[in-house]
Amino acid sequence: MTRTRIEPSAPQCQRCGTCCKKGGPALHKKDRVLVESGRLPLTDLFTIRRGELARDNVRGTLQPLDTEIVKIKAREAASWTCRYYSDHDSACRIYSTRPLECRVLQCWDTREIERLYSVGRLRRKDLLVPVEGLWDLIVDHDRRCSYESLHRLTRRLKSGGGEADAGKVLEVIQYDAELRDLVNERGNLDPEMLDFLFGRPLTRTVGQFGIRVECENGKVVRLVVERSVDTGGVGNPKTGQ
Ligand code: SF4
Repeated sequence: MTRTRIEPSAPQCQRCGTCCKKGGPALHKKDRVLVESGRLPLTDLFTIRRGELARDNVRGTLQPLDTEIVKIKAREAASWTCRYYSDHDSACRIYSTRPLECRVLQCWDTREIERLYSVGRLRRKDLLVPVEGLWDLIVDHDRRCSYESLHRLTRRLKSGGGEADAGKVLEVIQYDAELRDLVNERGNLDPEMLDFLFGRPLTRTVGQFGIRVECENGKVVRLVVERSVDTGGVGNPKTGQ
């Protein structure tokens, strides 16, 4: 009797959905065409700004970003699952036009994603410079609400800094919130684009500095310094930062 040799099957995607549930991909310059053609609308993207604390899943570190990244949003605020993932059939709803990171990711062999995840990332500037006025607004917001200065101020505040430091931090957070309100009131931009244009609101991300804000009548009015640093609100990208 001849025996048939059974070769181990080649590793392949089991469609468990784990990688899509860990977060949408960061976009790269090769994905620009997807945005420009409208297949990836700006309302489905958000920015993690330079200096913002983010988890690097490849290096296994949690550190401030040295350059911004643009990512696909999650389905809802309380989850990291990519908004294009369908539980119904465990599938990607944009499979044929999925971004670069999703195309190269093989969870059984991560060498390719490790090689390219930090190379040629797409930035807001790549998409927005031709839009008159808007880019200047973003640059001004980045300058006034930089994560670098927030890191510095909150470090001083938590090591005994006084009213002056607390006031400066509050001012930055209020400016960020008021700018978003103003853009919404003017009504010429889709509110869903704000997290792409200006990054996520500081009212949501300041937890990474161990502080939170309190609001009255929809306005940020005071800071509360917490003991522990909340890293739950930082980036949890598909892979990489
Ligand atoms: S774009 Fe598609 S493949 Fe990529 S993370 Fe989202 S659902 Fe998964």
